[in-house]
Amino acid sequence: MLRAAALAPAFWHTKGAFAQALTRTPALTIGPYYPDRLPLDMDNDLLLINDSITPSAGQIMWVSGRVLDTGGTPVRGAVVEIWQADNNGAYLHTASPATNREPNFQGYGKFETASDGRYVFRTVKPGIYPGRTRHIHYQIKTPGRGELVTQCHFEGEPLNSGDMLLNGITNAAQRQSVVRPIESLDTSAIGEKSVTFDIVMGFTPEDAPAGTLPVVSARSGVVNAAAFQPGASPGAWISIHGFRLSNTTRTWAGADIVEGKLPTILDGVSVTINGRNAYFYFISPNQINVQAPADTLSGTAQVIVTNTGGSSAAVNVELRQALPGFFRLAQEHVMATDSKGGYVGPVGIASGVISVPARPRDTITLWGTGFGPANPAIAPGQTVANSSPLANPVTIRVGQSKAQVVYAGMSGVGLYQFNTVVPDLPGGDYPVVAEIAGVRTSSAGRLRIQA
Ligand code: FE
Repeated sequence: MLRAAALAPAFWHTKGAFAQALTRTPALTIGPYYPDRLPLDMDNDLLLINDSITPSAGQIMWVSGRVLDTGGTPVRGAVVEIWQADNNGAYLHTASPATNREPNFQGYGKFETASDGRYVFRTVKPGIYPGRTRHIHYQIKTPGRGELVTQCHFEGEPLNSGDMLLNGITNAAQRQSVVRPIESLDTSAIGEKSVTFDIVMGFTPEDAPAGTLPVVSARSGVVNAAAFQPGASPGAWISIHGFRLSNTTRTWAGADIVEGKLPTILDGVSVTINGRNAYFYFISPNQINVQAPADTLSGTAQVIVTNTGGSSAAVNVELRQALPGFFRLAQEHVMATDSKGGYVGPVGIASGVISVPARPRDTITLWGTGFGPANPAIAPGQTVANSSPLANPVTIRVGQSKAQVVYAGMSGVGLYQFNTVVPDLPGGDYPVVAEIAGVRTSSAGRLRIQA
């Protein structure tokens, strides 16, 4: 238990645990070569035109991913268009920089996402043309989440370092998000490649409603910070989304925590839930992460953000005594650590993260927020010196199997840990679902098991 408590501080430095990790895909120029005459065939297979049997020349590459909003929710009904140079560097455009067009290459494709937000194209590795590194153009149109024009680039390309457009993206995380690895498709006998590129649709400053006051988004503006389900619960980390919430972007610093008390004002920003001050971890113009204050209310509460510009209109949120969610490792997998503090997940889950799959019968620790009170109680808004067991029993299922929970407790500010024995299951990805006080985690993260 002591060891587990000592690991908790490392959690705060885990990239991707909190909602702010969803980096909005940057907008990039549409460029001069969006097809000036759309092809007759516009499906998602760019390798074959209509019912031709002659595929395009070039390195076959599957390009896929999800369209998400900044809260991690898949966007349904998004229309994803791509266009790119063919194997010879030629576009489907009368002003194409190369004119020796590959006649069997479609040059453009279109795909509409279903409820999982996924898109997929079969295409070829784009050729190079003068002045640019290798890239694929994207245009995404969504119902209610705006439009985005951007480009996907590839890791390890020698021309990346000198590309003006790519290096013009000043935000490093955003720049990194549009440079993707080209991987070999293990299942392919003919050497096909695969690229995954998730597109995160966000609000831009231009989308902000008129005025000077902070605005909390009425639609899913207040969510569990680990798993994004709408609502709040006392002592849980929550994310508040909106506009003009703060002028600055930062997390708490040591100086903000005085005598074990978390700040209720950070750079002039404060948040109330049902009239009580919440405790800060992170502020930025479009997102705030706070720990919800103690409250006995179960029902509708008002959330108000105040900064030096004034106070937002109140937004109603469902306050529950428990609203559990597991933190995430690279969005889809649950945040889990092994007995040495290493991450548990698919190998190579994210750049800079070393992770190994869980092994059956090993004890791992899952991390979450919103699992209700501990006993002895730990009040929200104060640092946690000693882990305290949860007041209510918790059930955790991995796939269909009920997992043995060796210890469940609060071991950091708003941070809950579950020492869990991995069920004896065949290798694969399994959804992890917890239930406490009659409330279930609503969006299941996955656990990678390898026998
Ligand atoms: Fe281009």
